[in-house]
Amino acid sequence: MIAATPRYTEADLETILVSKEQIRKRVEELGRDLSKHFEGKDVTVVSILSGALVFTADLIRSCDFATRLDCLRAESYGNLMSADAPPRITNPLKTDISGRHVLVVDDILDSGNTLRAIIKYLSQAEPASLSTCVLLDKPSRHSSEFTADFKGFTIPDEFVVGYGLDFAERYRNLSCIGVLKKDLQKQESHA
Ligand code: 5GP
Ligand code: MG
Repeated sequence: MIAATPRYTEADLETILVSKEQIRKRVEELGRDLSKHFEGKDVTVVSILSGALVFTADLIRSCDFATRLDCLRAESYGNLMSADAPPRITNPLKTDISGRHVLVVDDILDSGNTLRAIIKYLSQAEPASLSTCVLLDKPSRHSSEFTADFKGFTIPDEFVVGYGLDFAERYRNLSCIGVLKKDLQKQESHA
């Protein structure tokens, strides 16, 4: 069989799990929930690069409390399609979070190793509070009881792309979230 040629667009998806409209509605709801939770507070939002970039950009515009924005980059040692080892923080914060309310925003809770390591790292600065918000949750993959305080969607154990999530740095710009066609998942280095 001849392998399909990737177009790096929605055309490469086999299924759409979460549509653009579902994302828009849910991000607004999350913004309302967070605005109730943090009412009157000054919150440092910490976005985990690069996957949470698109979600964070929309989420902070749905929130009506005072925010500062900072970013962390966590890189896993795992291979491209899974991340079982705890990640290392490769890009530390610019701002001081000690005594501040912190909301960590990430793209997906898979094994939970990334967010657990990030919480441990940020706790050392002794913030006033530390909350987590993830766009996607794959409960069947969790390696411990760790859960996020706020979450957008629960999804099955599938490797997904779009709305910030990538496959080899592609597809982050898709407006929906979906699963790549099977033969495209195998082509790891078509950069
Ligand atoms: P963890 O297993 O530590 O919870 O997730 C580690 C990281 O792996 C996530 O932040 C995300 O960047 C990546 N990841 C996990 N599942 C998926 C997925 O289905 N699609 C994509 N694109 N990345 C994923
Ligand atoms: Mg990530």
